[in-house]
Amino acid sequence: MNNNQRDSEQRAILMRKLMTICPICGKLIFGRDLDFSKISQGTVDHWPVCYRDHHSHKNFPVHSLDLLIDANFSVREVVTPDIKPKTL
Ligand SMILES: [Zn+2]
Repeated sequence: MNNNQRDSEQRAILMRKLMTICPICGKLIFGRDLDFSKISQGTVDHWPVCYRDHHSHKNFPVHSLDLLIDANFSVREVVTPDIKPKTL
């Protein structure tokens, strides 16, 4: 198998991979929801890399999540920069 075949096969697996579940809205975030063209073994020098995802889901307005993604494309940590204490 050459490198291109291996890359596209890994990419196909990644697209189907459940990366994490959003702690704010409960959305399931799959590999296909992330832009992996920005994250690859060739372009990232330091792992884990921080990837910011923006989405809205159900009744939740758009919010962001910082995903710390390691070299195996597993999410190590989810940070929620938008969460502030609620003021009523
Ligand atoms: Zn969410």
